[in-house]
Order: sequence, then structure tokens, then C-alpha cells
Amino acid sequence: MTTTTTADGRPRSNARTPRSYTRTGAPAASTPGVRSRMQSQKARDTAPELAVRRLLHADGLRYRVDRAPLPGLRRRADVIFGPARVAVYIDGCFWHGCPEHGTRPRTNSDWWLRKLDANRARDADTDRRLTEAGWAVLRAWEHEDPRSVADRVGALVASTSRRPTTPRRAA
Ligand SMILES: [Zn+2]
Repeated sequence: MTTTTTADGRPRSNARTPRSYTRTGAPAASTPGVRSRMQSQKARDTAPELAVRRLLHADGLRYRVDRAPLPGLRRRADVIFGPARVAVYIDGCFWHGCPEHGTRPRTNSDWWLRKLDANRARDADTDRRLTEAGWAVLRAWEHEDPRSVADRVGALVASTSRRPTTPRRAA
């Protein structure tokens, strides 16, 4: 197989060689549907997030977007309420394994099984770490009605804002 490089130095395979893996090590998308789901990973400002944020803002809530709640833990929440210590995640149905839509691609199924299981394990670990640090975590699926998600977030923020604050230890 002959290899050339692109202008930015990445290897470019011979055109006849099937490009079966992407740069991130993920198998290439086998169908347009799989491709669109793959491209939505880690996306900021997805339509479901924007819809929920618009409603929260209209409800008078103020928040930050795409921030890591805990210093040193690089796990960004989609919406955070710092003073109330509430972290909100709007989870994509495919990547986080929604029970209704979390289908697993049949092509390269071993790789996907490991990848999606790892995602779910990381979600559970994130929840545990945040909870241990005194945060409340709310996870919603991207398929959920934004109004009902915003209502749950509002109720949680209101309840946590009333809880007594524990003194923070100096670092
Ligand atoms: Zn779903």
C-alpha cells in the first residue's frame, strides 16, 4: 500500500484501500444514520440542550454552560448552577444508551459494545464523584420533552438552594 501525506502531515491512504477506521480509532460509519449519530458525540449546543436552556432562561434561572463542576475532573456538564451545586446532563440517546433508542450498530459490534459500555460506566462514575462532592446531578435524555426537563431542573435547583450550605474547606 502506498501512502502519501496531506498538507497538514496526516497520512493519506491509497485511494483503493478501504478507509475502515477514523482518526479517533472508531470504525467508520457503516450507514448514514450511524454516521450522523457518531458526529453528534461531544457536540455542544445540541438542539435539545438549546431548547432546555431557553426554557430555563425564560423561567428566570441563570446558569453556566459546558463547564466542569469539579476542578481537576474533566467532565463537563451541559448546564451547571454553581451556587446551588446542580449539574445537568442532556444525554444523547445513542452515546449514553437510552433504553428506547440506544440501539447498537451491528457492524463492528464488539468495538461498539465496549465503547458504549465505557460511556455508561463513565457516566455512573461522574455521578458518583459529583454526588460525593455535594453536587446534585440531573440526567435527562435528549428525546425528553424540554418543558418537562426544565421543570425538573427548576424544582431541583429550588430545593438545593434551600438546603443548608456546608462550609467549604480551604484548598
Ligand atoms: Zn432516547
